[in-house]
Amino acid sequence: MARRKYVVGNWKMNGLSAALADAQAIFAGAEDHSAVDVAICPPFTLVGAMVAAAPGSAVGGQDCHSATSGAFTGSVAAPMLADIGASLVIVGHSERREGFSESDADVRAKAEAGLTAGLSVILCVGEPRAVRESGGAIDYVLAQIAGSVPESFDAHRLAIAYEPIWAIGTGLVPTVVDVAAMHGAIRRALAARFGGAAEDMRILYGGSVNGDNAAELLDAGDVDGALVGGASLTAAKFMPIVAAAAALG
Ligand code: PEP
Repeated sequence: MARRKYVVGNWKMNGLSAALADAQAIFAGAEDHSAVDVAICPPFTLVGAMVAAAPGSAVGGQDCHSATSGAFTGSVAAPMLADIGASLVIVGHSERREGFSESDADVRAKAEAGLTAGLSVILCVGEPRAVRESGGAIDYVLAQIAGSVPESFDAHRLAIAYEPIWAIGTGLVPTVVDVAAMHGAIRRALAARFGGAAEDMRILYGGSVNGDNAAELLDAGDVDGALVGGASLTAAKFMPIVAAAAALG
C-alpha cells in the first residue's frame, strides 16, 4: 500500500493559549486535504488544550522520558502524553540530542517508550554541517539509525525524520539530489535490518521547509512528508506545505 504523505508541525518552545486558534485554523484547512496526515506538536503546556480545541486531530509531544514514571523533575512520560489525548511524539530532535546531550541509546529508549504507550513516534536523525562538508553525512546518519531505531515496532507507527542540523531554522536546504540520496540510503538500511516493514515506514524531510520549496522537496525520492518548524506556526505558512503534499498524493 502506498505511504500516505505526513506533514508535521513542530512548534518548539512557541505558543501561548492564543495560539490554539492557529492550530484550529490549520486542522480546519487540513480537512480539505484528506490524502495527507497532518499533525502538530506544540509545547507540552498546550497539548491537552489543543486536543480539546481540535477533537480528533493529531496532536503530539516534542519529547518524552524513557521511563513511565519516577523521580525525573521536569520530565513528561509517554503514557502521560497519551493520557491527555496526544497521539504522537517526536524523539531525538537535534535540539534535544545537542542541547540536552541525548545519545542514540537515549533516543531509542524514548522511541520504545512512545511506542509502548501506544503513540506514533517520529524519530529524528541528521548530520552537523562539518560532517556534510566532509562527505560523511550518509555514514553519520546511518549510524544514528543503527543506534536509535528500536529492534521491534509497528512500522505504521514509527516514522524517521531526516533533518540536517545545518538546515534547521537557517533557510538553507540540501539539494533535492542530496535529499533523495539520504532518504534512499535510510530506506535501504531499514530494509536490510527489518525487511518489508521498511516499505511501510515514512521518512520525512525537515529543515527550512516552506511554501516555496515544499513541492520540490516532497517530490524527492523516498520523501514521505515533512517535519516543519518555523513555517508551521500559522495556517498561512503551513497550509501551502500541506497543499503541496496533497498535490503529490
Ligand atoms: C525542526 O525544528 O524540526 C525544523 C525542521 O525547523 P525549521 O522548519 O524551522 O527549519
